[in-house]
Amino acid sequence: MEPVFKDKVALVTGGSFGIGSATSIAFAKRGAKVVIVDWVKDDETLNAIKKEGGEAIFIKCDVSKEADVKKMIEKAVSTYGKIDFAFNNAGIEGEQGITADCTRENWDKVIGVNLTGVWLCMKYEIPQMLKQGKGAIVNTASVAGLVGFQGIPPYVASKHGIVGLTKAAALEYAKEGIRVNAVCPGVIKTPMIDRFTGKDKVVEQQFVDQEPIGRLGEPKEVAKSVLWLCSDAASFVTGTAMPVDGGWTAQ
Ligand code: NAD
Repeated sequence: MEPVFKDKVALVTGGSFGIGSATSIAFAKRGAKVVIVDWVKDDETLNAIKKEGGEAIFIKCDVSKEADVKKMIEKAVSTYGKIDFAFNNAGIEGEQGITADCTRENWDKVIGVNLTGVWLCMKYEIPQMLKQGKGAIVNTASVAGLVGFQGIPPYVASKHGIVGLTKAAALEYAKEGIRVNAVCPGVIKTPMIDRFTGKDKVVEQQFVDQEPIGRLGEPKEVAKSVLWLCSDAASFVTGTAMPVDGGWTAQ
């Protein structure tokens, strides 16, 4: 595979599992040094990268905690000297329940990780990218950041918030060499979706039936879009919320 990201450093939050793991591996395959960030230490992603001769480190961090994020960025920069690409992807689904039944605890937790977490990561990534004079950020929103869904109100609110935050930051730093975009995945086969469906084949089929393309997405299909948004091929693309959703939001 062409090492188009040789000498580049890519930071991926939520890198232990699912979309973040696939994206960490995809960055490494193209030659980038990868900073895998997660609140759960799982060596699988790191080992997969090292087995292929790639370069990566793991940093434990809860993205909803400012002190953790500050330390994590300091460690990334002290290890590899810079951050070319940041994929702010860590997220949780929270508990299911309609708006009036949502507890304050669930609301605060989901907004804290998904929305405040993305903002905190950008808060500490951007000053480093300003020093470098360039950088590319991709935030993980969702189709739930573009349209409404019933039963997960803080999740939907957090993902719409990420789309808004992405646009605001894109405008603020457009002249400083920093591009900021979001990806909006449809239903992707990850541990998060397994938790939603309980691996029940009937429920899984209901998700498939809602995907115009007739199947669920693979984590590496989201990874490809993230890498494209980080690459020079996307040099004129900023402030966009790109659906990677098998046509879900075209319906
Ligand atoms: P996942 O649960 O498989 O992976 C999420 C990762 O984030 C895990 O490694 C988890 O440990 C980590 N994480 C969670 N909270 C964290 C925190 N506070 N600090 C650091 N790490 C934390 O889920 P996934 O499906 O791979 O989801 C990745 C992102 O994609 C999420 O933001 C999710 O909302 C979004 N998304 C997923 C789908 C889907 O269908 N799978 C669809 C749309 C959007």
